[in-house]
Amino acid sequence: MKYNKIDLNEKLFGDDFIVYDWKDDTDKIVIYVKATSHDDICPVCGSPTKTLHNTYHRVIQTYPIRGKCTYLDVIAYKYNCTNDECNRKVIMQNLPFVSPSQRRTDELNCLILAISMFLSNEGASKVLKLLGVTVSNDSIKRLLDKIVIEDNPNVEKIGIDDVAIRKGQTYATAVYDMEDHHMIALLDGRDKETVKTWLENHKKIKLVTRDRASAYASAINEVLPECIQIVDRFHLLQNLIDRMKDIFKEEIPETIYIKDGRILDEIPEKEAVLKVNPTSKKLNTYDYDNSEPIDENGNSIEFDKSCVDKNDKAHQKHTQSRKKNNN
Ligand SMILES: [Zn+2]
Repeated sequence: MKYNKIDLNEKLFGDDFIVYDWKDDTDKIVIYVKATSHDDICPVCGSPTKTLHNTYHRVIQTYPIRGKCTYLDVIAYKYNCTNDECNRKVIMQNLPFVSPSQRRTDELNCLILAISMFLSNEGASKVLKLLGVTVSNDSIKRLLDKIVIEDNPNVEKIGIDDVAIRKGQTYATAVYDMEDHHMIALLDGRDKETVKTWLENHKKIKLVTRDRASAYASAINEVLPECIQIVDRFHLLQNLIDRMKDIFKEEIPETIYIKDGRILDEIPEKEAVLKVNPTSKKLNTYDYDNSEPIDENGNSIEFDKSCVDKNDKAHQKHTQSRKKNNN
């Protein structure tokens, strides 16, 4: 079989850019890219132009390669708008992989946002560092602040769910367009009034999938009584289990006494339990003689430490000073 070499340049950047160099350091990779196009369209007046003004240079962080922080070093063009009536004189060439004034490619920003959805900004920054992405928690915060949630007053099918902004403390209500599951609203809190106010301005809704929160159910019933509500089987089972737990708690005592495989009707009297049987021979092993050892004549026996040399001068000196201290 014959294998063909694939032009990765074209796969990654299309015809408009060529990769002309590659630097692989221990901690980072730099891919040098240059624009090849020779015309552009003015973003203000829409006129096409081929008049080169200059080149410009941008360094943009992109998806990491082999776990290393990876940058695109891009040389792109500036053009002049040739329409005399247009007030835009210089046009910066648009780079398809990065938004204007961004230091990271759009796809890298998407990765950062996706990870930070599940972690704190600080945690996300640390995880991303392990993957080969350098981004501070402040930069993650700025990215999150830029997200715009666009409401759709004509939406017909929605999903509604509560989300924790800070677990156990602050909650919000997220509303999704079920056509493509993108978020169209993030409401403060998860109470009935908040949802009712939003539903009042979205009267075209015909279908809502929701969780088991009763606040959502009653808000929908009051504002859109004709609307079909869909709940997941998981939520119904959760409701059932919760209700059964309440019943069991009411009916069954907190402590149950079982003796010989049978449940006792009354609480048994407490018995004092001795853990060791007093007649057990084991107790004898705890008995020991702590008196001074004596010989057959009744004199106490002294034990010498055989490792100590009694003729050693230092030892004799220590013994002397010990005796002096004791007296
Ligand atoms: Zn123009």
